[in-house]
Amino acid sequence: MKAKKNLIWAVILAAVCLICAAVILYGRLGGENPKAEIYLGNELIKTVDNLSPDEEYSFRIDCKDGYNIVTVGGGKIWVSESDCANRTCVNAGKISGGGQTIICAPHKLVIRITSDSQTDAVV
Ligand SMILES: [Zn+2]
Repeated sequence: MKAKKNLIWAVILAAVCLICAAVILYGRLGGENPKAEIYLGNELIKTVDNLSPDEEYSFRIDCKDGYNIVTVGGGKIWVSESDCANRTCVNAGKISGGGQTIICAPHKLVIRITSDSQTDAVV
């Protein structure tokens, strides 16, 4: 009788673990909310929380050697214009995924996509 009770508890415990795992997994896959961090030098100068605004918009980042125009829209972010020498940042195109970066070496500008899905998973 006692052994049977233990078995029931084991099943309940396993079910709880399974639900927890599902919630965490859902948070990682479905609840992903990418953000973009923009660094000038080593300094974080701007965070873009929403990469999917209702309407595409651009903003200008000035640095001592020139400027970059950064555009946000459709879940992506990219450098649409720059007066830097090599224009690698403009040619880098649009980024949207976690861990992707655009670097403008002459202007020491870095745009990095981060994801706060892990904080979403906290129940
Ligand atoms: Zn550049």
